[in-house]
Amino acid sequence: MTTTAEKIWTVRKNPFDPNPELRIWMDGVLVPANEAKISVFDHGLLYGDGIFEGIRVYGGRIWKEAEHIQRFFESAKAVRLDVPMTPEGVSQAMNEALEANGVIDGYIRLLCTRGVGLLGISVTKAACPSVIVIADSISLYPQERYETGLRCITSSYVRNHPNSLSPRIKSLNYLNNVMAKLEAYDAGADEAIMLNYEGRVAEATGDNVFIVRNGQLCTPPTSEGILDGITRGVVMELAGQRGYIVEEKQLLRHDIYTADECFLSGTAAEIIAVVMLDKRPIGDGQPGKITRQLQQDFSEARS
Ligand code: PMP
Repeated sequence: MTTTAEKIWTVRKNPFDPNPELRIWMDGVLVPANEAKISVFDHGLLYGDGIFEGIRVYGGRIWKEAEHIQRFFESAKAVRLDVPMTPEGVSQAMNEALEANGVIDGYIRLLCTRGVGLLGISVTKAACPSVIVIADSISLYPQERYETGLRCITSSYVRNHPNSLSPRIKSLNYLNNVMAKLEAYDAGADEAIMLNYEGRVAEATGDNVFIVRNGQLCTPPTSEGILDGITRGVVMELAGQRGYIVEEKQLLRHDIYTADECFLSGTAAEIIAVVMLDKRPIGDGQPGKITRQLQQDFSEARS
């Protein structure tokens, strides 16, 4: 006999069900999205035991592919996960997923989980890591925010201590960031700036942070406990080409409050202005001139 709870459960329709046309690369096989499932015994699900990358595709080309593949293998090494593929194999898998889905401009989610194992944390209880490639699209912030800029709060959730789960690892355990993002939404803001364990500016929930002051750019060094963002590196390069000094420097919230401009950088977000922090306008409360120049330079660099 079916219980009422079971009936309710079966009629629920998830508005975010994947497009059934989408094909997912899973351990060497292209599987329709609604059949692309991982086991309830996968340690990626049970313990967040795995790593990932988010990668952009522009004009059919994988943007900063070598850098992303390198970081992928570094994250794996940091959590002692043996990716059962070579870097060349990962590149081929991503291209197969792009081709199968006709993705020209889009986003790749590449992940490796510890795989199916027995219950219990011991890594010896999961012997076969799984590799998955999703080639789809992403929109991190609403399009209009690229014109108006983001309103941020400072999160009360401290970014993971670098000697605990290092933020330099892109692990499948993003709850630290998820909690901060929820806090931002609860406060009616778009995004959260997270502080490190010493109270200095670390990063946003999925992006790095830059400020501009007197025509000079500053961003926290990776030793502050942040992801070494690939877009962050591109921004530093583009700013250098324009002749701006870029300094990796410890930042306090005070530095953002009193900056001329502030912006975030990330693969999914690209470059986006922050115009308000904790309801205080940054600069004149509009996306700044240097931020807009860099957005322009970035869109030229990727095309
Ligand atoms: N910080 C965090 C926590 C991230 O998850 C990301 C990537 N989404 C970034 C920064 C930006 O890194 P990248 O430019 O390599 O995407």
